[in-house]
Amino acid sequence: MEEKFDVLAVGAGYAGAVAARALADQGKRVLVLERRDHIGGNAYDRPDQAGVLIHQYGPHIFHTNDKQVFDWLSRFTRWRDYQHRVVANIPDGRGGRITYPVPFNLTSLETAFGPEEGRRLGDKLTAAYGAEKKVTILELRQNQDPSIAALADYVYEHVFVHYTMKQWGQRPEDIDPNTTARVPVFLSRDDRYFQDTYQGMPLEGYTPMFERMLDHPSITVELGTDALGRLDLSGNTLKVDGAPFDGQVIYTGQADELFGFRFGPLPYRTLDFAFETLEQDDFQGYGTVNYTVDEDFTRITEFKHLTGQAAPGVTTIVKEYSKAYTGERGEIPYYAIINPENNALYAKYRAEADRFSNLHLLGRLAEYKYYNMDAIAGKALELAEKL
Ligand code: FAD
Ligand code: UDP
Repeated sequence: MEEKFDVLAVGAGYAGAVAARALADQGKRVLVLERRDHIGGNAYDRPDQAGVLIHQYGPHIFHTNDKQVFDWLSRFTRWRDYQHRVVANIPDGRGGRITYPVPFNLTSLETAFGPEEGRRLGDKLTAAYGAEKKVTILELRQNQDPSIAALADYVYEHVFVHYTMKQWGQRPEDIDPNTTARVPVFLSRDDRYFQDTYQGMPLEGYTPMFERMLDHPSITVELGTDALGRLDLSGNTLKVDGAPFDGQVIYTGQADELFGFRFGPLPYRTLDFAFETLEQDDFQGYGTVNYTVDEDFTRITEFKHLTGQAAPGVTTIVKEYSKAYTGERGEIPYYAIINPENNALYAKYRAEADRFSNLHLLGRLAEYKYYNMDAIAGKALELAEKL
Protein backbone atom coordinates (compact mmCIF):
# COMPACT_ATOMS: atom_id res chain seq x y z
CA MET A 1 0.00 0.00 0.00
CA GLU A 2 1.44 3.34 -0.99
CA GLU A 3 -0.29 5.25 1.80
CA LYS A 4 -0.17 4.05 5.36
CA PHE A 5 -3.42 2.55 6.64
CA ASP A 6 -4.26 1.15 10.06
CA VAL A 7 -7.09 -1.04 8.82
CA LEU A 8 -7.91 -2.84 5.59
CA ALA A 9 -11.62 -3.66 5.16
CA VAL A 10 -12.42 -6.09 2.36
CA GLY A 11 -15.97 -5.47 1.13
CA ALA A 12 -18.16 -2.37 1.30
CA GLY A 13 -21.42 -4.04 2.43
CA TYR A 14 -22.86 -3.68 5.93
CA ALA A 15 -19.97 -5.53 7.56
CA GLY A 16 -17.15 -3.65 5.84
CA ALA A 17 -18.75 -0.21 5.72
CA VAL A 18 -20.04 -0.12 9.30
CA ALA A 19 -16.70 -1.37 10.65
CA ALA A 20 -14.79 1.11 8.47
CA ARG A 21 -16.80 4.08 9.70
CA ALA A 22 -16.73 3.05 13.35
CA LEU A 23 -12.94 2.64 13.17
CA ALA A 24 -12.48 5.92 11.29
CA ASP A 25 -14.50 7.63 14.02
CA GLN A 26 -11.91 6.29 16.48
CA GLY A 27 -9.19 8.00 14.47
CA LYS A 28 -7.99 5.00 12.43
CA ARG A 29 -7.10 5.32 8.75
CA VAL A 30 -9.10 2.76 6.80
CA LEU A 31 -8.74 1.42 3.28
CA VAL A 32 -11.87 -0.29 1.91
CA LEU A 33 -11.44 -2.57 -1.10
CA GLU A 34 -14.62 -3.56 -2.94
CA ARG A 35 -14.67 -5.93 -5.87
CA ARG A 36 -17.97 -4.64 -7.28
CA ASP A 37 -18.32 -1.26 -8.93
CA HIS A 38 -20.53 0.02 -6.11
CA ILE A 39 -20.79 0.18 -2.32
CA GLY A 40 -23.56 -1.29 -0.14
CA GLY A 41 -22.97 -5.00 -0.83
CA ASN A 42 -26.23 -6.86 -1.27
CA ALA A 43 -28.19 -3.95 0.18
CA TYR A 44 -27.24 -1.78 -2.83
CA ASP A 45 -30.17 0.03 -4.49
CA ARG A 46 -30.40 2.23 -7.56
CA PRO A 47 -33.00 3.70 -9.92
CA ASP A 48 -33.71 1.41 -12.89
CA GLN A 49 -34.20 2.59 -16.48
CA ALA A 50 -37.77 3.67 -15.73
CA GLY A 51 -36.57 5.67 -12.71
CA VAL A 52 -38.00 3.20 -10.20
CA LEU A 53 -35.76 2.63 -7.16
CA ILE A 54 -34.90 -1.08 -7.08
CA HIS A 55 -32.82 -3.36 -4.88
CA GLN A 56 -30.46 -5.03 -7.31
CA TYR A 57 -29.80 -8.05 -5.06
CA GLY A 58 -33.32 -8.67 -3.80
CA PRO A 59 -35.71 -6.90 -1.45
CA HIS A 60 -34.19 -5.51 1.75
CA ILE A 61 -36.37 -4.32 4.61
CA PHE A 62 -34.65 -2.94 7.67
CA HIS A 63 -35.92 -4.15 11.06
CA THR A 64 -34.29 -4.43 14.47
CA ASN A 65 -34.81 -4.49 18.21
CA ASP A 66 -31.28 -3.20 18.72
CA LYS A 67 -31.60 0.48 19.61
CA GLN A 68 -27.85 1.02 19.46
CA VAL A 69 -27.71 -0.22 15.85
CA PHE A 70 -30.76 1.78 14.85
CA ASP A 71 -29.41 4.99 16.42
CA TRP A 72 -25.99 4.45 14.87
CA LEU A 73 -27.38 3.97 11.35
CA SER A 74 -29.71 6.93 11.89
CA ARG A 75 -26.62 9.17 11.79
CA PHE A 76 -26.50 8.45 8.06
CA THR A 77 -30.15 8.33 7.06
CA ARG A 78 -33.63 9.37 7.97
CA TRP A 79 -36.24 6.62 7.76
CA ARG A 80 -39.50 6.08 6.00
CA ASP A 81 -41.87 4.34 8.39
CA TYR A 82 -42.66 1.09 6.59
CA GLN A 83 -44.21 -2.03 8.08
CA HIS A 84 -43.63 -5.00 5.78
CA ARG A 85 -46.72 -7.08 5.04
CA VAL A 86 -46.57 -10.28 3.02
CA VAL A 87 -49.33 -12.53 1.74
CA ALA A 88 -49.23 -16.06 0.42
CA ASN A 89 -50.88 -16.41 -2.97
CA ILE A 90 -52.21 -19.93 -3.52
CA PRO A 91 -54.68 -21.77 -5.74
CA ASP A 92 -58.07 -22.07 -4.01
CA GLY A 93 -58.72 -25.52 -5.49
CA ARG A 94 -61.64 -24.20 -7.59
CA GLY A 95 -59.71 -22.55 -10.38
CA GLY A 96 -59.20 -19.24 -8.58
CA ARG A 97 -56.64 -18.02 -6.08
CA ILE A 98 -56.72 -16.81 -2.50
CA THR A 99 -54.32 -14.75 -0.47
CA TYR A 100 -53.75 -14.58 3.26
CA PRO A 101 -51.12 -13.13 5.59
CA VAL A 102 -47.72 -14.75 6.10
CA PRO A 103 -46.65 -15.45 8.83
CA PHE A 104 -49.80 -17.60 8.91
CA ASN A 105 -51.96 -15.97 11.63
CA LEU A 106 -55.51 -15.88 12.99
CA THR A 107 -56.68 -13.95 9.92
CA SER A 108 -55.05 -16.51 7.61
CA LEU A 109 -56.83 -19.26 9.52
CA GLU A 110 -60.23 -17.67 8.91
CA THR A 111 -59.51 -17.13 5.22
CA ALA A 112 -58.36 -20.72 4.78
CA PHE A 113 -61.06 -22.47 6.84
CA GLY A 114 -63.94 -19.99 6.86
CA PRO A 115 -64.80 -17.58 9.67
CA GLU A 116 -66.47 -20.05 12.01
CA GLU A 117 -64.11 -23.00 11.76
CA GLY A 118 -61.18 -20.60 11.58
CA ARG A 119 -62.20 -18.97 14.85
CA ARG A 120 -62.73 -22.34 16.53
CA LEU A 121 -59.26 -23.50 15.48
CA GLY A 122 -57.77 -20.16 16.50
CA ASP A 123 -59.28 -20.49 19.99
CA LYS A 124 -57.93 -24.00 20.26
CA LEU A 125 -54.43 -22.94 19.24
CA THR A 126 -54.52 -19.98 21.59
CA ALA A 127 -55.62 -22.25 24.46
CA ALA A 128 -52.74 -24.62 23.65
CA TYR A 129 -49.92 -22.08 23.15
CA GLY A 130 -51.11 -18.71 24.47
CA ALA A 131 -52.33 -15.50 22.82
CA GLU A 132 -49.84 -13.60 20.62
CA LYS A 133 -47.46 -16.56 20.70
CA LYS A 134 -45.23 -17.60 17.82
CA VAL A 135 -45.00 -21.33 17.13
CA THR A 136 -42.67 -22.77 14.54
CA ILE A 137 -44.17 -25.08 11.95
CA LEU A 138 -41.92 -27.92 13.13
CA GLU A 139 -43.17 -27.47 16.72
CA LEU A 140 -46.77 -27.27 15.59
CA ARG A 141 -46.39 -30.54 13.72
CA GLN A 142 -45.46 -32.26 16.99
CA ASN A 143 -48.89 -31.53 18.44
CA GLN A 144 -50.88 -34.74 19.03
CA ASP A 145 -54.34 -33.15 19.11
CA PRO A 146 -56.07 -34.37 15.91
CA SER A 147 -57.54 -31.03 14.85
CA ILE A 148 -54.29 -29.14 15.58
CA ALA A 149 -52.32 -31.84 13.77
CA ALA A 150 -54.62 -31.50 10.74
CA LEU A 151 -54.17 -27.74 10.82
CA ALA A 152 -50.38 -28.12 11.08
CA ASP A 153 -50.48 -30.38 8.01
CA TYR A 154 -52.49 -27.76 6.15
CA VAL A 155 -50.01 -24.97 6.97
CA TYR A 156 -47.04 -27.21 6.20
CA GLU A 157 -48.51 -28.08 2.80
CA HIS A 158 -49.81 -24.62 1.84
CA VAL A 159 -47.13 -22.33 3.29
CA PHE A 160 -43.91 -24.21 3.95
CA VAL A 161 -43.10 -27.35 2.03
CA HIS A 162 -43.22 -26.12 -1.57
CA TYR A 163 -41.71 -22.73 -0.82
CA THR A 164 -38.88 -24.39 1.12
CA MET A 165 -38.30 -26.92 -1.67
CA LYS A 166 -38.03 -24.03 -4.15
CA GLN A 167 -35.75 -22.01 -1.89
CA TRP A 168 -33.49 -24.76 -0.55
CA GLY A 169 -34.13 -27.88 -2.66
CA GLN A 170 -34.92 -29.58 0.67
CA ARG A 171 -37.92 -30.10 2.92
CA PRO A 172 -38.47 -27.99 6.06
CA GLU A 173 -37.51 -30.86 8.37
CA ASP A 174 -34.19 -31.31 6.53
CA ILE A 175 -32.92 -27.72 6.76
CA ASP A 176 -31.63 -25.78 9.77
CA PRO A 177 -34.72 -25.36 12.03
CA ASN A 178 -33.75 -21.73 12.67
CA THR A 179 -34.55 -20.99 9.02
CA THR A 180 -38.25 -21.89 9.07
CA ALA A 181 -38.44 -20.47 12.60
CA ARG A 182 -37.89 -17.05 10.98
CA VAL A 183 -41.48 -17.28 9.74
CA PRO A 184 -43.53 -18.90 12.53
CA VAL A 185 -47.26 -19.47 12.85
CA PHE A 186 -48.38 -16.39 14.76
CA LEU A 187 -51.41 -16.56 17.07
CA SER A 188 -52.29 -12.96 16.49
CA ARG A 189 -54.14 -10.50 14.28
CA ASP A 190 -50.87 -8.65 13.72
CA ASP A 191 -50.31 -9.21 10.00
CA ARG A 192 -46.84 -7.67 9.76
CA TYR A 193 -43.92 -9.82 8.60
CA PHE A 194 -41.68 -8.51 11.40
CA GLN A 195 -42.59 -7.37 14.90
CA ASP A 196 -39.35 -5.51 15.66
CA THR A 197 -39.46 -2.19 17.49
CA TYR A 198 -37.61 -0.31 14.74
CA GLN A 199 -38.61 -0.93 11.14
CA GLY A 200 -38.36 1.09 8.02
CA MET A 201 -36.58 1.95 4.83
CA PRO A 202 -33.76 4.49 4.49
CA LEU A 203 -35.61 7.56 3.25
CA GLU A 204 -33.54 8.08 0.09
CA GLY A 205 -32.40 4.46 -0.16
CA TYR A 206 -29.60 2.26 1.14
CA THR A 207 -26.91 3.49 -1.24
CA PRO A 208 -27.09 7.14 -0.09
CA MET A 209 -26.91 5.87 3.51
CA PHE A 210 -23.71 3.97 2.67
CA GLU A 211 -22.31 6.97 0.80
CA ARG A 212 -22.67 9.13 3.90
CA MET A 213 -21.27 6.37 6.12
CA LEU A 214 -18.13 6.05 4.01
CA ASP A 215 -17.73 9.79 3.51
CA HIS A 216 -14.99 10.43 6.08
CA PRO A 217 -11.52 11.97 5.66
CA SER A 218 -9.89 8.83 7.09
CA ILE A 219 -11.68 6.37 4.77
CA THR A 220 -10.46 5.56 1.27
CA VAL A 221 -12.68 3.36 -0.89
CA GLU A 222 -11.38 1.57 -3.98
CA LEU A 223 -14.14 0.09 -6.10
CA GLY A 224 -13.62 -2.60 -8.72
CA THR A 225 -10.70 -3.97 -6.69
CA ASP A 226 -10.42 -7.61 -5.72
CA ALA A 227 -8.55 -7.84 -2.44
CA LEU A 228 -7.49 -11.42 -3.07
CA GLY A 229 -4.83 -10.20 -5.46
CA ARG A 230 -3.37 -7.96 -2.75
CA LEU A 231 -3.58 -10.19 0.33
CA ASP A 232 -0.99 -12.88 0.96
CA LEU A 233 -1.78 -15.45 3.66
CA SER A 234 0.75 -18.07 2.57
CA GLY A 235 3.27 -17.48 5.36
CA ASN A 236 3.03 -16.83 9.07
CA THR A 237 2.67 -13.10 8.65
CA LEU A 238 -0.16 -11.49 6.78
CA LYS A 239 1.05 -9.47 3.81
CA VAL A 240 -0.67 -6.72 1.85
CA ASP A 241 0.77 -5.72 -1.52
CA GLY A 242 3.76 -7.95 -0.84
CA ALA A 243 4.79 -6.32 2.45
CA PRO A 244 4.08 -7.51 6.00
CA PHE A 245 1.02 -5.68 7.33
CA ASP A 246 0.75 -5.09 11.06
CA GLY A 247 -2.60 -3.29 10.93
CA GLN A 248 -5.97 -5.01 11.19
CA VAL A 249 -7.70 -6.75 8.27
CA ILE A 250 -11.48 -7.12 8.29
CA TYR A 251 -12.47 -9.58 5.61
CA THR A 252 -16.17 -9.81 4.66
CA GLY A 253 -16.01 -12.06 1.57
CA GLN A 254 -16.24 -15.86 1.33
CA ALA A 255 -14.04 -17.74 3.80
CA ASP A 256 -13.39 -20.62 1.36
CA GLU A 257 -12.30 -18.27 -1.42
CA LEU A 258 -9.86 -16.48 0.91
CA PHE A 259 -7.94 -19.72 1.31
CA GLY A 260 -8.12 -20.87 -2.30
CA PHE A 261 -10.88 -23.42 -1.55
CA ARG A 262 -8.17 -25.67 -0.10
CA PHE A 263 -10.64 -27.80 1.89
CA GLY A 264 -13.30 -27.71 -0.83
CA PRO A 265 -16.03 -25.16 -1.59
CA LEU A 266 -18.61 -24.17 1.02
CA PRO A 267 -22.13 -24.85 -0.30
CA TYR A 268 -24.47 -21.93 -0.97
CA ARG A 269 -27.78 -21.14 -2.64
CA THR A 270 -27.85 -18.43 -5.25
CA LEU A 271 -30.75 -16.52 -6.80
CA ASP A 272 -31.74 -15.42 -10.27
CA PHE A 273 -33.64 -12.15 -10.18
CA ALA A 274 -36.13 -11.46 -12.99
CA PHE A 275 -37.00 -7.76 -12.99
CA GLU A 276 -40.00 -6.48 -14.96
CA THR A 277 -41.11 -2.90 -15.38
CA LEU A 278 -44.83 -2.57 -15.99
CA GLU A 279 -46.87 0.38 -17.22
CA GLN A 280 -49.30 0.50 -14.33
CA ASP A 281 -49.50 2.21 -10.97
CA ASP A 282 -49.73 -0.90 -8.83
CA PHE A 283 -49.16 -4.56 -9.65
CA GLN A 284 -49.97 -6.47 -6.46
CA GLY A 285 -50.93 -4.10 -3.66
CA TYR A 286 -48.21 -5.52 -1.37
CA GLY A 287 -44.47 -5.19 -1.01
CA THR A 288 -44.02 -8.93 -1.30
CA VAL A 289 -46.30 -11.81 -2.33
CA ASN A 290 -45.05 -15.34 -1.61
CA TYR A 291 -46.04 -18.12 -4.03
CA THR A 292 -46.11 -20.91 -1.49
CA VAL A 293 -47.73 -23.71 -3.50
CA ASP A 294 -47.08 -23.28 -7.22
CA GLU A 295 -44.87 -21.29 -9.67
CA ASP A 296 -41.11 -21.76 -10.00
CA PHE A 297 -40.23 -18.49 -8.33
CA THR A 298 -40.57 -18.08 -4.56
CA ARG A 299 -41.87 -14.54 -4.34
CA ILE A 300 -42.61 -11.31 -6.17
CA THR A 301 -41.59 -7.98 -4.70
CA GLU A 302 -42.94 -4.67 -5.93
CA PHE A 303 -40.46 -2.01 -4.90
CA LYS A 304 -42.73 1.02 -4.84
CA HIS A 305 -44.55 -0.41 -1.82
CA LEU A 306 -41.27 -0.71 0.07
CA THR A 307 -39.79 2.62 -0.88
CA GLY A 308 -42.99 4.67 -1.04
CA GLN A 309 -41.78 6.17 -4.31
CA ALA A 310 -44.45 8.05 -6.27
CA ALA A 311 -43.98 6.94 -9.88
CA PRO A 312 -47.32 7.35 -11.64
CA GLY A 313 -48.06 4.84 -14.41
CA VAL A 314 -44.99 2.68 -13.84
CA THR A 315 -43.89 0.02 -11.39
CA THR A 316 -41.04 -2.51 -11.18
CA ILE A 317 -41.33 -6.00 -9.76
CA VAL A 318 -38.81 -8.78 -9.22
CA LYS A 319 -39.29 -12.54 -9.16
CA GLU A 320 -36.76 -14.66 -7.26
CA TYR A 321 -35.63 -18.05 -8.52
CA SER A 322 -33.39 -20.02 -6.18
CA LYS A 323 -30.84 -22.63 -7.22
CA ALA A 324 -27.63 -24.30 -6.07
CA TYR A 325 -24.57 -22.07 -6.28
CA THR A 326 -21.95 -23.57 -8.59
CA GLY A 327 -19.27 -20.90 -8.31
CA GLU A 328 -19.58 -20.00 -11.99
CA ARG A 329 -18.56 -16.48 -12.94
CA GLY A 330 -21.23 -13.93 -12.20
CA GLU A 331 -23.06 -16.12 -9.69
CA ILE A 332 -23.39 -14.66 -6.19
CA PRO A 333 -23.49 -16.85 -3.07
CA TYR A 334 -26.52 -15.45 -1.24
CA TYR A 335 -27.42 -18.04 1.38
CA ALA A 336 -25.11 -20.28 3.42
CA ILE A 337 -26.57 -23.78 3.67
CA ILE A 338 -26.29 -24.31 7.38
CA ASN A 339 -25.95 -27.91 8.57
CA PRO A 340 -23.44 -29.81 10.73
CA GLU A 341 -21.35 -31.00 7.78
CA ASN A 342 -21.03 -27.54 6.24
CA ASN A 343 -20.38 -25.95 9.62
CA ALA A 344 -17.52 -28.42 10.12
CA LEU A 345 -16.06 -27.45 6.74
CA TYR A 346 -16.40 -23.80 7.64
CA ALA A 347 -14.59 -24.43 10.95
CA LYS A 348 -11.51 -25.55 8.97
CA TYR A 349 -11.39 -22.22 7.14
CA ARG A 350 -12.00 -20.38 10.37
CA ALA A 351 -9.04 -22.15 11.96
CA GLU A 352 -6.86 -21.02 9.04
CA ALA A 353 -7.97 -17.43 9.59
CA ASP A 354 -7.32 -17.71 13.33
CA ARG A 355 -3.61 -18.28 12.60
CA PHE A 356 -3.40 -14.54 11.98
CA SER A 357 -4.18 -12.45 15.05
CA ASN A 358 -4.88 -9.38 12.89
CA LEU A 359 -7.32 -11.07 10.46
CA HIS A 360 -11.03 -10.84 11.33
CA LEU A 361 -13.78 -12.67 9.45
CA LEU A 362 -16.96 -10.62 9.61
CA GLY A 363 -20.32 -10.83 7.85
CA ARG A 364 -22.76 -13.15 6.20
CA LEU A 365 -20.22 -14.72 3.85
CA ALA A 366 -17.11 -14.63 6.01
CA GLU A 367 -18.92 -16.14 9.02
CA TYR A 368 -21.07 -18.50 6.92
CA LYS A 369 -24.24 -17.42 8.74
CA TYR A 370 -27.82 -16.37 7.97
CA TYR A 371 -27.58 -12.81 9.27
CA ASN A 372 -29.98 -9.94 8.83
CA MET A 373 -28.60 -6.47 8.18
CA ASP A 374 -29.02 -5.27 11.75
CA ALA A 375 -27.14 -8.27 13.16
CA ILE A 376 -24.18 -7.60 10.87
CA ALA A 377 -24.17 -3.92 11.75
CA GLY A 378 -24.18 -4.86 15.45
CA LYS A 379 -21.30 -7.32 14.99
CA ALA A 380 -19.31 -4.74 13.03
CA LEU A 381 -19.75 -2.14 15.79
CA GLU A 382 -18.70 -4.72 18.37
CA LEU A 383 -15.56 -5.65 16.45
CA ALA A 384 -14.62 -2.01 15.92
CA GLU A 385 -14.98 -1.42 19.65
CA LYS A 386 -12.63 -4.33 20.36
CA LEU A 387 -9.88 -3.34 17.91
P1 FAD B 1 -22.46 -8.43 1.60
O1 FAD B 1 -23.57 -7.48 1.51
O2 FAD B 1 -22.48 -9.65 0.74
O3 FAD B 1 -21.12 -7.63 1.34
C1 FAD B 1 -19.89 -8.25 1.11
C2 FAD B 1 -19.13 -7.40 0.12
O4 FAD B 1 -17.78 -7.89 0.01
C3 FAD B 1 -19.71 -7.49 -1.29
O5 FAD B 1 -19.97 -6.19 -1.77
C4 FAD B 1 -18.62 -8.20 -2.09
O6 FAD B 1 -18.55 -7.75 -3.44
C5 FAD B 1 -17.38 -7.82 -1.33
N1 FAD B 1 -16.26 -8.76 -1.52
C6 FAD B 1 -16.28 -10.10 -1.36
N2 FAD B 1 -15.07 -10.62 -1.63
C7 FAD B 1 -14.27 -9.58 -1.97
C8 FAD B 1 -12.91 -9.49 -2.36
N3 FAD B 1 -12.12 -10.56 -2.45
N4 FAD B 1 -12.40 -8.26 -2.64
C9 FAD B 1 -13.18 -7.16 -2.56
N5 FAD B 1 -14.47 -7.20 -2.20
C10 FAD B 1 -15.02 -8.40 -1.90
N6 FAD B 1 -31.50 -8.57 5.71
C11 FAD B 1 -32.40 -7.84 6.39
O7 FAD B 1 -32.12 -7.37 7.49
N7 FAD B 1 -33.63 -7.58 5.83
C12 FAD B 1 -34.01 -8.04 4.61
O8 FAD B 1 -35.13 -7.78 4.15
C13 FAD B 1 -33.07 -8.83 3.89
N8 FAD B 1 -33.40 -9.31 2.67
C14 FAD B 1 -32.49 -10.07 2.01
C15 FAD B 1 -32.87 -10.57 0.77
C16 FAD B 1 -31.99 -11.35 0.04
C17 FAD B 1 -32.41 -11.89 -1.30
C18 FAD B 1 -30.71 -11.65 0.60
C19 FAD B 1 -29.74 -12.52 -0.17
C20 FAD B 1 -30.33 -11.15 1.81
C21 FAD B 1 -31.21 -10.35 2.55
N9 FAD B 1 -30.87 -9.82 3.77
C22 FAD B 1 -31.79 -9.07 4.47
C23 FAD B 1 -29.53 -10.04 4.38
C24 FAD B 1 -28.55 -8.92 4.02
O9 FAD B 1 -28.34 -8.89 2.63
C25 FAD B 1 -27.23 -9.19 4.73
O10 FAD B 1 -27.40 -9.29 6.12
C26 FAD B 1 -26.17 -8.12 4.49
O11 FAD B 1 -26.16 -7.63 3.18
C27 FAD B 1 -24.84 -8.72 4.82
O12 FAD B 1 -23.81 -7.78 4.69
P2 FAD B 1 -22.32 -8.26 4.51
O13 FAD B 1 -21.48 -7.05 4.51
O14 FAD B 1 -22.01 -9.35 5.47
O15 FAD B 1 -22.28 -8.99 3.08
N1 UDP C 1 -40.76 -19.91 4.37
C1 UDP C 1 -41.74 -20.67 3.78
N2 UDP C 1 -42.84 -20.04 3.27
C2 UDP C 1 -43.01 -18.70 3.31
C3 UDP C 1 -42.00 -17.93 3.89
C4 UDP C 1 -40.87 -18.56 4.40
O1 UDP C 1 -41.62 -21.90 3.70
O2 UDP C 1 -44.03 -18.20 2.82
C5 UDP C 1 -39.58 -20.59 4.92
C6 UDP C 1 -38.55 -20.90 3.83
O3 UDP C 1 -37.86 -22.08 4.19
C7 UDP C 1 -37.65 -19.69 3.91
C8 UDP C 1 -37.59 -19.44 5.40
O4 UDP C 1 -38.93 -19.76 5.86
O5 UDP C 1 -36.37 -19.94 3.36
C9 UDP C 1 -37.19 -18.06 5.83
O6 UDP C 1 -38.01 -17.12 5.18
P1 UDP C 1 -37.59 -15.58 5.05
O7 UDP C 1 -38.72 -14.84 4.44
O8 UDP C 1 -37.06 -15.12 6.35
O9 UDP C 1 -36.40 -15.68 4.00
P2 UDP C 1 -35.45 -14.57 3.34
O10 UDP C 1 -36.24 -13.31 3.22
O11 UDP C 1 -34.28 -14.46 4.23
O12 UDP C 1 -35.11 -15.19 2.02
